[in-house]
Amino acid sequence: RREQAWSQRFSPALLTDGHRVEVVANIARVEEAENALKAGAEGVGLVRTEFLFLDREHAPTEDEQYECYKAMVEALGGLPMVLRTVDIGGDKPVDYLGLSEHDLSFLGLRGIRLGLARPDIIKTQLRAVFRAAKHGPIKLLFPMIATPNDFRRIRQIAETVRREVDGPQIDLGVMIEVPAAVTMAPELAKVVDFFSVGTNDLTQYGLAVDRTHPLLAKRADSLHPVVLRMIDTATKAAHAEGKWVGVCGGLAADPLGAQILTGIGVDELSMPAALIPAVKEKLRKANLADLQALAKRALAQDDAVAVRLIPPAV
Ligand code: PEP
Ligand code: MG
Repeated sequence: RREQAWSQRFSPALLTDGHRVEVVANIARVEEAENALKAGAEGVGLVRTEFLFLDREHAPTEDEQYECYKAMVEALGGLPMVLRTVDIGGDKPVDYLGLSEHDLSFLGLRGIRLGLARPDIIKTQLRAVFRAAKHGPIKLLFPMIATPNDFRRIRQIAETVRREVDGPQIDLGVMIEVPAAVTMAPELAKVVDFFSVGTNDLTQYGLAVDRTHPLLAKRADSLHPVVLRMIDTATKAAHAEGKWVGVCGGLAADPLGAQILTGIGVDELSMPAALIPAVKEKLRKANLADLQALAKRALAQDDAVAVRLIPPAV
């Protein structure tokens, strides 16, 4: 039985009818890439690069970042790695950047907005990423994209940097975590290679609930149909253009959430490595038609509590 559990761990998540969902890990540090493999991840769906920038006096150098990203992708031994450019701001302040409290609000100079306002930081990071991409299959992901213009601006910077370091052409994707990006999903899907849905921020911005507020955070339930309907819209828009959709927010790590997301048609679920075995096990119990029916019912509700009360698919 132990052997069976072991082989299950390293097998893909196939529904009972054979439909496959890619299950990958969220990581921040090199050691976590190794842990992801041990947990049965089929790759990395989100590298949060913030940790390199936090709790220090200066921004990390290009070489420091290059060594880190290279070590991560090498640790994955050929499996894909989606690396997100730095998402500073909001609840992740950084003293050496000299940002005001206003800049650092959740509606302020966060994610790609900081990158576009302070190109020095993002260019250094992009140089490191394109150099590391010579050592393994890296895809680039940009946080807090609200409009196609945000993406076009960062894509132009990325392409200039790529040529400077003679880096490979790699897939470029956007986080879908701002409601504006859902509204613009048909247009975004035409210009990007993939979507990665950030349910933590999509919940915060969709329900207008600060995700760090001690009283309100409880109400920021990502199973709310407000959030599920936005994911459904974005997924349909991506698929209409032949692009794939991942979910890297907390909802992907919730067994019921993972089932509903699969029913919506999401292609990849990315989560903390420790939760991978349980999510795979849950997915293997149902078939796609059951999960599609579950998703349909969930989307038709008007509250997260009602979604949780739907009889389970399995
Ligand atoms: C999200 O918003 O869901 C997400 C994955 O990004 P972060 O939690 O790092 O903001
Ligand atoms: Mg986010």
